[in-house]
Amino acid sequence: MEQKPLPFDQKKLDGISENTIVIHHDKLYAGYVAKVNEISEKLVELRKSGTAKGNATYSELRALKDAETFTTNGVYLHEWYFDVLGGDGNIANAPELSKAITEKWGSVENTIKYMSECAMAARGWSVLCWDTKVGKIKHYNSDAHNQGGVWGCLPIIVLDVYEHAYFIDHGSDKASYIAAFWENLNWSKAEELYLKAREVKL
Ligand code: FE
Repeated sequence: MEQKPLPFDQKKLDGISENTIVIHHDKLYAGYVAKVNEISEKLVELRKSGTAKGNATYSELRALKDAETFTTNGVYLHEWYFDVLGGDGNIANAPELSKAITEKWGSVENTIKYMSECAMAARGWSVLCWDTKVGKIKHYNSDAHNQGGVWGCLPIIVLDVYEHAYFIDHGSDKASYIAAFWENLNWSKAEELYLKAREVKL
């Protein structure tokens, strides 16, 4: 797995500092990419050695399989998060997504208000997605990278609410960080992700 560059200028966000973004991308996200590769190599070695034994209380295989989903989702979720940052917060850039969320939650304003409260209630991630099983927009919270996600969903707007995403800039004021997230949202990118996702019905 390869680390992806930031898709925006780290100096340009409003309310989310360059320092936060650099630590978040270059240290934390990069660390997950490195661990995915390390775990993958260890799993290959273990499988090839013929000594892999599955024990659900503790086994090397269990520890690696648990870390595999934690780190892989850690990479993917951060990539989706960075993908929708760096914009100007202008919802007019997402006409189709805007229509879909208005149909679901009454208005764009209601959606942002509701999603912000959901994010306040989350310990890790707050995700607007396309649920391929029902063919609808859904919202899910996740308290850890590998806990609370719903399989078969394609993320559209991913919001990181771990403390590392905001403590440097906002202290414990999580709500002001969430407000800054919306101000920096790249709705064009969210629209692009939505248009691709809604083609998928499984
Ligand atoms: Fe993060």
